[in-house]
Amino acid sequence: MIIILQPHVTTQSPEFDALRNHIANLPRVQMRVHEERGSQQTLTEIYLIGDTAALDKDDMASLPGVERVVRVSREYRVLGRHHDDQRPSYFEYNGVRFGQDNFNVFAGLCAVDTPAHVEEMMRTLRDYGQVCTRMGAYKPRTNPYAFQGHGKACLPYVFELAGKYGIKVIAMEVTHDRHVAEIHEALHAAGNPTGVMLQIGTRNTQNFELLKIVGRQREFPVLLKRGFGITLEESLNAAEYLASEGNRNVVFGLRGMKTNMGDPHRNMVDFAHVPVVKRLTRMPVCIDPSHSVGSRDRGPEGLLDVFHVTAQGIIAGANMVLVDFHPQPPKALVDGPQALLFNELPHFLEDVAIAREAYEKRVAAAARYA
Ligand code: PEP
Ligand code: MN
Repeated sequence: MIIILQPHVTTQSPEFDALRNHIANLPRVQMRVHEERGSQQTLTEIYLIGDTAALDKDDMASLPGVERVVRVSREYRVLGRHHDDQRPSYFEYNGVRFGQDNFNVFAGLCAVDTPAHVEEMMRTLRDYGQVCTRMGAYKPRTNPYAFQGHGKACLPYVFELAGKYGIKVIAMEVTHDRHVAEIHEALHAAGNPTGVMLQIGTRNTQNFELLKIVGRQREFPVLLKRGFGITLEESLNAAEYLASEGNRNVVFGLRGMKTNMGDPHRNMVDFAHVPVVKRLTRMPVCIDPSHSVGSRDRGPEGLLDVFHVTAQGIIAGANMVLVDFHPQPPKALVDGPQALLFNELPHFLEDVAIAREAYEKRVAAAARYA
């Protein structure tokens, strides 16, 4: 059960003390408090955990200071969509909205290699009106001898160039709590010219200690990739780890599943789960066509498979696309075979806009037929 307090009631208010005393007297019920600080006001929620089935929703809602009560009917207490649940399905970060009702493109380098490539990428994005990108600094690699990313050494120029070209959010994978601190420090040292969305990669979806650390910080939103060899439910529970620790600014990323059934694609594309994740949770859903397809192969009409699956995810309602670009894919240090070329960006964006418009028309038609 979730008790949402009236906007003026905080943990300092007398109403809160009274509620805490009331809850302390309920048998086998514990409480956890979550404060969501917005620019205008702080919203306080009390999560009741334990034996809550016998509690009367209306009784709880009538207590002083309570705005409304949501009974948690399924799993994913914080991020889930529950009956009568009007909690928002969006958040804002650094001036960019991430919601189940809008759409953002994160085109960029799978791995940062040279400052020149970072600058060329960001200039191209700026030229096409983009304010988000992806830039890998810490790369988890299958082969221990493969390039592991430039790590914190590249952060100063990545952040400075992002500021120069008006990039507001960079998706960047972290694999260790130290990386979160390094990103925080480098951003601060550069004068916070941009923002970062911390990415938890598919190999770390169930790294619970990393999830707890990333969930405890509220500075950066998180893109959690679905684990490539676990169930959707297990991955959604991983997202709930982040939220249960306090950070509910989470985007859920589909990136394909590891099985040879998807051959010749690198992974089995799982974008049919876009509406499923939106139905079960309030998280915006990202698709990663690059790591799903893994190649620059194209259909007989000339469209790359990466374009096709992107359109498939967007027409199903995806809210974000994370896509690899590189100026010279054969020379890329990581994942070159799947990278789009810089001069393919305008075509990609046009194709994306066509798919998004088709999705919006489908939603309008559904409303007419409802
Ligand atoms: C990535 O986006 O660079 C990446 C490594 O993705 P994934 O964790 O999905 O393999
Ligand atoms: Mn990659």
